[in-house]
Order: sequence, then C-alpha cells, then structure tokens
Amino acid sequence: MDKTLSIVLPSYNEEQMIEKTTETISDIMERERIPYELIFVNDGSKDGTWDKILEQKEKNTHVKGVCFSRNFGKESAISAGLDQAAGACVAVMDCDLQHPPETLVTMYRLWESGFQVIEGIKASRGKESPIYKMFAKTFYKIISNATGIDMSRASDFKLLDRQVVDEYLKLPERNVFFRALSSWVGFKTTYVEFDVQKREAGESKWSFKSLVKYAVNNISAFSAAPMQIVTFFGFIFFLVAVVLGIQSLYMYFSGHAVEGFTTVILLLLFVGSVLMFSLGVIGYYISKIYEEVKMRPRYIISEIVGSDEE
Ligand code: UDP
Ligand code: MG
Repeated sequence: MDKTLSIVLPSYNEEQMIEKTTETISDIMERERIPYELIFVNDGSKDGTWDKILEQKEKNTHVKGVCFSRNFGKESAISAGLDQAAGACVAVMDCDLQHPPETLVTMYRLWESGFQVIEGIKASRGKESPIYKMFAKTFYKIISNATGIDMSRASDFKLLDRQVVDEYLKLPERNVFFRALSSWVGFKTTYVEFDVQKREAGESKWSFKSLVKYAVNNISAFSAAPMQIVTFFGFIFFLVAVVLGIQSLYMYFSGHAVEGFTTVILLLLFVGSVLMFSLGVIGYYISKIYEEVKMRPRYIISEIVGSDEE
C-alpha cells in the first residue's frame, strides 16, 4: 500500500529558505524512513524563489515545483499543492520552518494509527503585539462562533488523509479558508500541539492592511453575522422610532410642538450613516457572490516541474 507523505509548501519570496527547508525535511524523512515528496508552490515570488526550487529539484528527486503566473495568495497556493499531491496523505506547512518539521513525524504516525485529519495547534501564539493579539482574538471568536470549532490556536499546519483532501478539493468555492474548512469537512480528527518557531530568514508577508483584508474576507466567507447585526440595528431604530413618535405626537397634541432643529440634524446624520454602513455590508456580500459566480480559477500555473504528468 502506498504510504507516501506529500508535503505542500506555499512559498512567496522565500529564496533564503528553500534550500534549508528541503534539507531539514528530507533529513528527517530519510531518518524516519517515511516515503515523501515535497511540493513547493511558488506563489508569484518577486525574488529568486523559483530558481532555488528548480535547483533543489535537480538535487533531490523528491522535490516537485509549481509556479504561479502571479501572486494568488497562500490559500490558492495550498489548493494548488493539494491538487498536485500524489501521496496517500498530505501535509501543509509554511516553508519558513516556523512549523517544526519534527512535528510532521508525530502527525504521520497518528495518520498511520488511523486518524484522517491531524490539526497542528499552536501551543503558544508566539511573539505578537498586544493590539495584534486583541484583533486576532476578536477575529477568531467570530470565526469560532460561526464554525462551531475553536479556532483561536488553529494554524495551516495540518496533515490530511487522501480521502479528506479529495473532499476538500471538491468544494466549488473560489474563496477558501483552509484552516477552517479542513475541520468543516469532518472525518476522524486529532490535534497535535507545536511551538511556533522563530522565522530564520526573510520576513513575514503580513501587513496590517493584508490582515484586515484577510479577517473581513474570512468572516464574510463563514458567517452572515455582519448582516444580522444590520437587522439588529434596524430593530433598535424601529423601537426608538416608536418611542420618539409617540412622544412627538403627544407634544404636538398637547400644544408643545418640539423646536428640535438639532435633534433632526443629529437623527438624519446618524440614520444616514448607519444606512450607508449597512449598504456597505450588503454590498460586500454581493461582491463576494459576484466573485464566486464568475467561477474564475483559484490560481493559474505557468510551470510545473517534477510531476509525473510532466
Ligand atoms: N505565503 C504565500 N503567499 C503569500 C504570502 C505568504 O504562499 O501571498 C507563504 C509564505 O511563503 C510562508 C507562509 O505562506 O511559507 C506563511 O507566510 P508568513 O511566514 O509570511 O506568515 P507568518 O508566519 O508570519 O504568519
Ligand atoms: Mg512565517
């Protein structure tokens, strides 16, 4: 029976890491006698990442490479890696070695013992600023509520059985959130804790802007809560309207008609801005629907090396 472990490594501007990562992982796999393949997905890097991948492919027959035509983002890179993976199980990990490769062995052994989804859970969240921590906490709270799964320490570091990968790849949507969807598909799951390592070279690709985009994108993909909040506001406004309406009518009939210019202006501005905000939320969801119905591919490949179909 084939027991090959495919390891998917999304790589964006990681020229300094490719060689080190390949060597570290292959040493461990050889030592543990785990049949493996490494699938580097070059996500439109602007540096020499692709050349480094080609170089490793020449040196090591276990290396495969996929090159995107431009940067499509980590989620797309993961999808492409899963598409290319030929193994009986597939692990996804960062190619900056922040996900300790030793944990792969633990995950693989759990897979051998019959688990189909082995989730890497962050033992600690690593070094982060308090503000970042606060945002991350809120974000994960919303996502956890929407999915019913505790996501606060979830990561993209996972090992999935072939059956699970096939189900994941069947999902028709363009906007995927691997971290949550791998739990969503179900199957026999277990967890492995790992410590997030320090990045050895290169730098994190996250900026504040990209994090906000990521959060909004994934919340909208998993939850209709923002639209429910709009409904909630509508309801509150209605209650206030009834009370104020009764009060105004009472004043009118009792001959104390309100002067209230300020009140009118404030109400107008307030209601106006809430309306705009609500329209924005709805517009956002519509734009997401629009993106999905266009049915564009998750990514475009410009080159593949090391694959059997080559
Ligand atoms: N990555 C990617 N495409 C992107 C951004 C990042 O494939 O557009 C990869 C990156 O090369 C790395 C992983 O995703 O292997 C995690 O990225 P990073 O280390 O920047 O995130 P952090 O570890 O800081 O959360
Ligand atoms: Mg990293």
